[in-house]
Amino acid sequence: MLLAPDDLGDTLSRQAEEIAVKIAGVAAADVDRAARFPVEAIDALLAEELTLRENRRIKIALMMARLSAIKTLAGFDFSFQPSLDKNRVMALAELAFIDRNEVVHFLGPPGTGKSHLSLALGVQAVKAGHSVYFTPLSDLVSALAKAEREGSLREKIRFFCRFSLLIVDEIGYLPVVPGGGNLFFQLVNARYEKGAMILTSNRGFAEWGDVFGDPVVATALLDRLLHHAVVVQIEGSSYRLREHADLVPDNVRSNAVLRQSTAAAPPKRRGRSPQNGGADHASG
Ligand code: ADP
Ligand code: MG
Repeated sequence: MLLAPDDLGDTLSRQAEEIAVKIAGVAAADVDRAARFPVEAIDALLAEELTLRENRRIKIALMMARLSAIKTLAGFDFSFQPSLDKNRVMALAELAFIDRNEVVHFLGPPGTGKSHLSLALGVQAVKAGHSVYFTPLSDLVSALAKAEREGSLREKIRFFCRFSLLIVDEIGYLPVVPGGGNLFFQLVNARYEKGAMILTSNRGFAEWGDVFGDPVVATALLDRLLHHAVVVQIEGSSYRLREHADLVPDNVRSNAVLRQSTAAAPPKRRGRSPQNGGADHASG
């Protein structure tokens, strides 16, 4: 279970924490992520910042967001990923995409910082007062499937619609269970033009038919998810393997390179500022 931080002593904080635990517990039933909940990382993040009261608000909101780790943009080494335009990412960090209910896609091979950037934007959004929820796609689909079995799918979808920013990580790593694409579509459709999302994937859009095991569902998903969308493609090597790149066989390295979409993906970007004056949207 989540541990109560020592300094959450007053009634207000206790109440807020109870709410956080209750909400977090919904997801914890699906996977035991609570054990690795980054309370210490939150403390470190907030150590030298803001007032005590503001710290408490952020701490509770970060717990409720279920971020798998606390990451910051300051901790991201942009020089390691030259294909990534730092200005585009810093523009996203101003969070106007949340007010516009847009979808941000981070695409790229494993280890290129997709989760880091989505978590950092999540932290930024929490600090700015937005409600945020982070989940890997597999956990999200499991939660929806469980709710469907228990006859509470509508409530579950309403739960995930409550957050102004929903971050769905790791699309494409694991095959989606049969029917999972349909459930995810119902959620995406419910949030469409009503709430912002960040999605991360190691697979190009043309492969979503395979990812979701159903080309019709994948097309319907992409229809919603590419309208009012910002696509950030990272083409580089894995930060995880940076000290061991020479040990990784060439074929493994080249297999890790994201296969480009030929259908739905927008034009490939190579870390330059957008040609259209900063409106780096897929459409809309
Ligand atoms: P992905 O989600 O693309 O597979 P992650 O974001 O999980 O990759 O990155 C893997 C690890 O490397 C994480 O611990 C992340 O914080 C770190 N990392 C990745 N890219 C960078 C970078 N450019 N600068 C600093 N840390 C990075
Ligand atoms: Mg990741």
